[in-house]
Amino acid sequence: MSLPQSEVNRLSKENLTQSDIEYFRNKYGKKFVKALRLVEEGKVVKYKFNPSESVTWIISGRGRQYLVIPELYCTCRSFYQEAVISRETKMCYHLLAQRIAEIREEYETQESTDTERRKLYVEWRRTD
Ligand SMILES: [Zn+2]
Repeated sequence: MSLPQSEVNRLSKENLTQSDIEYFRNKYGKKFVKALRLVEEGKVVKYKFNPSESVTWIISGRGRQYLVIPELYCTCRSFYQEAVISRETKMCYHLLAQRIAEIREEYETQESTDTERRKLYVEWRRTD
């Protein structure tokens, strides 16, 4: 799932107007509201691991963290149910939050090591 260029342009504006918010709410419904809240609360984190310089996006949810592969995959249950199993949608609100955060450059950055990455991945890969 990638956002159309017109939406990327809209999201990259410094301040979202009421009509921008309406537009996205009409298109994405509650997912947009929840995604925007995650971004505003600083829950979107971009990890950079060295020396490989690999990047991993993590969203802090209630009680656990979700690994998001931009425009493709999220480890949350609703992505599994709604995108993989029933194919009702191509994304969950975490995937949308990652896009909003990256486009608006409103995310936290964490640097760590590749050794630490292996440990973190054990937790992040969980899909329950
Ligand atoms: Zn998700």
